[in-house]
Amino acid sequence: MERESLEMDVVFVGAGPANLSGAFHLAKLVAEHNSAIESGKLQAKSLGEIQLAVIEKGSSIGAHVLSGAVMDPKGLAELIPDFIEQGAPVESAVKEDHFLYLTPRRAIRSPITPPPLRNHGYYIVSLNRLTAWLGEKCEEVGINIFPEFPGAEMLYDDDDRVIGVRTGDKGIDKEGKRKPNFEPGIDLVAKVTVLGEGVRGSLTKKLIQRLGLAEGREPQIYSLGVKELWELPDDRYPTGRVTHTLGFPSDQWTYGGGWIYGMQNRILNLGYVTGLDYRDPLIDPHAEFQRFKSHPFLAKLLDGGKMIRYGAKAIVAGGMHTMPKLYADGVLIVGDSAGFLNAARLKGIHSAIKSGMLAAETIFEALLADDFSGARLQNYERRVRESWITPELRRYRNFHAGFRHGRWLGMVNAGLQYITGGRAWGIFDRDHQEPGHEAMRKLSVYGYQNDDPAQRYKDLRFDGVLTFNKVTDVYHAAVAHAEDQPAHLHVLDTNVCAARCANEYGNPCQRFCPAAVYEMADNGNGERRLQINFSNCVHCKTCDIMDPYQIINWVTPEGGGGPDYKGM
Ligand code: SF4
Repeated sequence: MERESLEMDVVFVGAGPANLSGAFHLAKLVAEHNSAIESGKLQAKSLGEIQLAVIEKGSSIGAHVLSGAVMDPKGLAELIPDFIEQGAPVESAVKEDHFLYLTPRRAIRSPITPPPLRNHGYYIVSLNRLTAWLGEKCEEVGINIFPEFPGAEMLYDDDDRVIGVRTGDKGIDKEGKRKPNFEPGIDLVAKVTVLGEGVRGSLTKKLIQRLGLAEGREPQIYSLGVKELWELPDDRYPTGRVTHTLGFPSDQWTYGGGWIYGMQNRILNLGYVTGLDYRDPLIDPHAEFQRFKSHPFLAKLLDGGKMIRYGAKAIVAGGMHTMPKLYADGVLIVGDSAGFLNAARLKGIHSAIKSGMLAAETIFEALLADDFSGARLQNYERRVRESWITPELRRYRNFHAGFRHGRWLGMVNAGLQYITGGRAWGIFDRDHQEPGHEAMRKLSVYGYQNDDPAQRYKDLRFDGVLTFNKVTDVYHAAVAHAEDQPAHLHVLDTNVCAARCANEYGNPCQRFCPAAVYEMADNGNGERRLQINFSNCVHCKTCDIMDPYQIINWVTPEGGGGPDYKGM
């Protein structure tokens, strides 16, 4: 197939906070360098006009970006020191911190907020809006941003050096044939490609496997955050109040917790995180969130309100020992794709922004030296090591490992870590941590006879007022995919589903997917087969992470498809 090829200097894959910050910072560094030469302040080689491109699979900048979120402003303040004056869309400064322990009936307020969850001086933000604003800032300095352009494949030369990225084809029907509107993807050939695709990026995953970038590292650990926005009828929950919860509805062996943030205009932002290293195969993270809302404290808070938006996204939770090597020839990995999030503090925007800036500084130096080899780009890892990112992550490096031994030991470990500066011994050490999907036990181990979810969620009803089923929620994520295209969820061996997986785990994809994409449907002959309702997909990546056989491969769909997380 004939493809157009465009030569760029740097291509950023994914328009999230890390890559937009990286592109913005790089453009600024180049502009300052060139103007210092022009004004005679610096005797050096001018870099001339540098071609930067940011490609994004969503329909607009921020459409696929979802987070809680309370932002530590440290990263953004380094990128744009007067971000408030420049109109960065923050919802509110954090005015109150609450920490609740939920029993099935009661909400017990802790007299102290655990130090990692103290948020004074931080901001409640809609990450969707903040990202869109960062996109505008990039466009103001002349950076080309291309929404609806998913990265479909990395481009390598004969020596396995990354030389760019191929964007996805458009106009392929579900049989794989070209439609009248067919447009082949473009080869964006670049000196450096920066992967900032977010959690479990599809290109990042393949790159890590192909180049062995995770060798010697612990396996990454993930959680899934499920979230709704509610419109409240009055001012019962003030703007700027931040509440975190522990306890109900998670069981002892499941890492989880809730959040409730007061946004402007009586909008309540609430969600629930379930660790994607849970044991019970009947766990359904969306159902956990619905149970969370049915707690008397939440039910009262939401009484008379209206759910207006829904979203779900996987979260990286493994910490610094699970991060892959961050560079190779011609490529860098930033933000959530690399795993910079601090799970103890529930914060990653600040370090994502910083990682993008450090990548930009490394690329700037590489442009000056005209050297884009791994030997040159390894300076990015050095910069990360020497920046404030590393001491912060080091301090919480064994945070998640403790929760493998249950909630209470996990909390003891989290407290000890705070005192010891992150050191952990014995069972709390992260060594030999298993990948999350391996933690899932078989139905028989849990004493389940079949996959009837009522065995775990017998009290849960979807009343359409307080609690919603997945299909109703997905409607509120404004998901759209062209129906006539190949499914972007590749199940590598569907024979496993009806026979082995049904017996062993009861097809957990039907539960861990928060968007009702996977369904074991009767094929008319009394047999069940896997049906993939791919157009519901909210791109959370959970199936790629949590499938016990690791045979689900998430690839980018046609550009522009997916959720639209406006205001989320
Ligand atoms: Fe998430 Fe996979 Fe379901 Fe899409 S299909 S919503 S990526 S679990």
